[in-house]
Amino acid sequence: ENWPNIIGSVEFKNVSFSYKNGDTILENFNLQINPGETIALVGETGAGKSTIVNLFCRFYEPSRGEILIDGINYKNMPQNWIHENLGYVLQSPHLFSGTIRENIRYGDLNATDEDIIKACKLVDAHEFIMSMEKGYDTEVGEGGGLLSTGQKQLISFARAIVRNPRLFVLDEATSSIDTETERIIQDAIQNVLNGRTSFVIAHRLSTIRNANRILVIGDGKIIESGTHDEL
Ligand code: ATP
Ligand code: MG
Repeated sequence: ENWPNIIGSVEFKNVSFSYKNGDTILENFNLQINPGETIALVGETGAGKSTIVNLFCRFYEPSRGEILIDGINYKNMPQNWIHENLGYVLQSPHLFSGTIRENIRYGDLNATDEDIIKACKLVDAHEFIMSMEKGYDTEVGEGGGLLSTGQKQLISFARAIVRNPRLFVLDEATSSIDTETERIIQDAIQNVLNGRTSFVIAHRLSTIRNANRILVIGDGKIIESGTHDEL
């Protein structure tokens, strides 16, 4: 089947969700996002921010309600359709053993070395990679264990962007992310969000100051929303 290219409108429609055998995390959650809009999610730990983006990435499916992309319930689309059009950086980024180059190419198997370098420059990861003795051929170890969480996030950031996705998710790591990585992500983010429908979860308001909307999430609900200046 030939599925259309994504324009990028997103709707959460009466979405309820609980993890297996767990409490209800989201109940009748509603959210409409225009193509190209950046939505920032803030709120205390355990509020449900990652759960919202994990549903959007289709790692889980709503127990009730639906998530629509360009008006189509994504449940009715092939699994790989969303993955081809979505780039994500997860809170606990997952790398596989292999080199930095191989891990980034995993985002787009057709990417050339030049494409990979271009993506790394866009997300400001090039410099840190080149500072390592073997550069792009550095082995990351089992699960990326030879790198810091921040470095893993930068590599998965490049991996997310190399295929130039229309939809983008960044769930910034909470723990053990150094201030240098946080600064890099903060600077890179504006280059990357342009034109993509995005969710960004960040720890500093300065990282998300240019978001079109900031949603304050509490107990699985939107408790406040507005721009950086309004909040
Ligand atoms: P943080 O700022 O710490 O990342 P968060 O806003 O991203 O928090 P979530 O990770 O979405 O919060 O968690 C929302 C609720 O769901 C919490 O009560 C959490 O314990 C629970 N939860 C999260 N992931 C799972 C899981 N895989 N299985 C069961 N419960 C989970
Ligand atoms: Mg989280």
